[in-house]
Amino acid sequence: MNLVIVESPAKSYTIKKYLGKDYEILASYGHVRDLPKKELGVDVEKDFDPKYIIPPKSRRAISAIKDKAKDAKIVYLATDHDREGEAISWHVVQACGLQDQKIKRITFTEITKNAILDAVKNPREIDQDLVNAQQARRILDRLVGYKLSPFLWKKITAGLSAGRVQSIAVRLIVDREREIKNFVPKIYFVVLAELSKNKKNFTTKLTAIDGKPIEDEILASKKDVDKIVDEAKKEKWLVDKVAAEDKLRFPFPPFTTSTLQQSANYGLGFTSKKTMKLAQDLYEAGKITYMRTDSSNLSWLAVNSVRKFIEAEYGKRYLSDKAINYKTKSKGAQEAHEAIRPTYIETKPEELKIKTVTPDHTKLYEMIRNRTIACQMKPMEYQEINVEVKAGKYTFSAQGRKIKFDGFTSLTPIKFPEIELPILKAKDNLKLESIKNEEKQTQPPARYSEPTLIKVLEKEGIGRPSTYVPIISTIQQRGYVFLQNRFFYPQEIGEMVTDLLVENFPDIVNIKFTANVEEEFDSIAEGKLKWTAMLRKFYDPFIANINTKNKTVEKSKEFNQKIAKKCPKCQSELIMRVGKFGKFIACTSYPKCKYTENIVEKSNYKCPKCKEGDVVTRHGKGGRRFWGCNKYPKCDYINFTGPLPADISKIKNQKSKIQIKNKK
Ligand SMILES: [Zn+2]
Ligand SMILES: [Zn+2]
Repeated sequence: MNLVIVESPAKSYTIKKYLGKDYEILASYGHVRDLPKKELGVDVEKDFDPKYIIPPKSRRAISAIKDKAKDAKIVYLATDHDREGEAISWHVVQACGLQDQKIKRITFTEITKNAILDAVKNPREIDQDLVNAQQARRILDRLVGYKLSPFLWKKITAGLSAGRVQSIAVRLIVDREREIKNFVPKIYFVVLAELSKNKKNFTTKLTAIDGKPIEDEILASKKDVDKIVDEAKKEKWLVDKVAAEDKLRFPFPPFTTSTLQQSANYGLGFTSKKTMKLAQDLYEAGKITYMRTDSSNLSWLAVNSVRKFIEAEYGKRYLSDKAINYKTKSKGAQEAHEAIRPTYIETKPEELKIKTVTPDHTKLYEMIRNRTIACQMKPMEYQEINVEVKAGKYTFSAQGRKIKFDGFTSLTPIKFPEIELPILKAKDNLKLESIKNEEKQTQPPARYSEPTLIKVLEKEGIGRPSTYVPIISTIQQRGYVFLQNRFFYPQEIGEMVTDLLVENFPDIVNIKFTANVEEEFDSIAEGKLKWTAMLRKFYDPFIANINTKNKTVEKSKEFNQKIAKKCPKCQSELIMRVGKFGKFIACTSYPKCKYTENIVEKSNYKCPKCKEGDVVTRHGKGGRRFWGCNKYPKCDYINFTGPLPADISKIKNQKSKIQIKNKK
């Protein structure tokens, strides 16, 4: 009998089908060892020696593996094909005390019969470099979390926590919110002329004066544009140039973890967490390749079968002239992975036979399948027509677009509408139907959503396929930011923590510094860097800075300020305090007296809903702050973003007054 170890029961179920009765499959149920929760668990004096423990939830799995391993001829470690999976295998060996000569590590990026049999035929040893890269990440995150959090407790309030990559994600959201709050919109104008030829109308836009191009947002004076309109009205309108050009639009590369999460969010409205759960189900059921990857590469076998499929299903007309190989663009692409694709391209979404298939599994699978097929299809062909029209010294332009061949968009449509123009040639006379100027406003940068945050984490090299979901979950769980209508907003406490970290631990919240740390993890995985040396280089300056800052940084005075009012319950003094959701007022006799009150900020606005009440800050469940009507519960107006919806300029100019109200 041979024993095969995997992480999850779903995976073992699929593998069992392919290996037959000589193999017994056991699941480790995730990680079997970890650092202890109650202490640091790392001996920084002894080369960062970690003290791993077996959590209670893993004890049953461990004893089951130990038991079966005794009689097994070979123990195959078939955990996932990445650093996390390598580490789980290593921990299983350590925790179960398995003998070296008995163990073999096998990897595969898809759970299909061929891939599994092939993996069993080509086993290897555990790759200690990959294990060490994972250990280095785990230990570094532990050191930062456990050493930095107490600093926040001392300086702000108990219960806060800091994390390595998470603190940067919070900072990005805080910085963006401030950019938006400080944004001053600029008014500008565009001049639009509706022209016609042979009764066919089209719209042109002023693009140059005296041959000098007009940049967007440059026409700021209403008087100037009124003059342009008046002058142009009197001119003769003549076609100056017509240029037609054939263009191609190429398909997108197959999915990586990051692009899958982004597309599933935009296209299907799934959170990253949900997407990864569904993708894992599909992977473990043998329907798609491994879902944690930053490679957009496809195996030649996969490319061949996709191309055969396109030819049979859509005809040669739609097959790209030669096989397209997509290069991986992201920084530090990990290990020998493939893009996310179906294991059998022929399997249609409605034919997915997995244990607990839901409509969402089907939708995600269809999205992955279509993208994989499309990547070997012909590009879309279209003609772009650029027209320049002269009216005296003014140049107006229009662009037409005609699709000649739909190519890959027949399968994965894109937003790319045709724009019709009349047939025009130089010197043609045109009729001016109407001309007007339109007022526009410059827009502040957009808040981050899950997909745009993931995109920037990947672009800056501070996120990895295995970390996007944990980062996004953690920053919300800690109460530093929240999602509202798919956009991230910082909480008051998130801003306070960020400010404190930026001032005192600039490296921890610095993108370049963190990207460099991530690159060093990659170097460890490639065997180019010793993990303990990397930890030492990080830790020594970090801990020296913490020790200094613990002594020099004072607790913010604002937080223990006395309030000119006595506690209505016990007549003790009241002070300003800070909790998980920001500032509040508490009694100095705490814990004897538990009296607290929220700080109500009043805006200068009347409630837009009932027109009677004032818009003030209110506090919801657990203390989360938002703007609402002070006539509540008579009026239920609420707004999470500010006193008034989408009116940034006014919010900026208004000075809020702090006013204290008693809690009932
Ligand atoms: Zn009191
Ligand atoms: Zn109201």
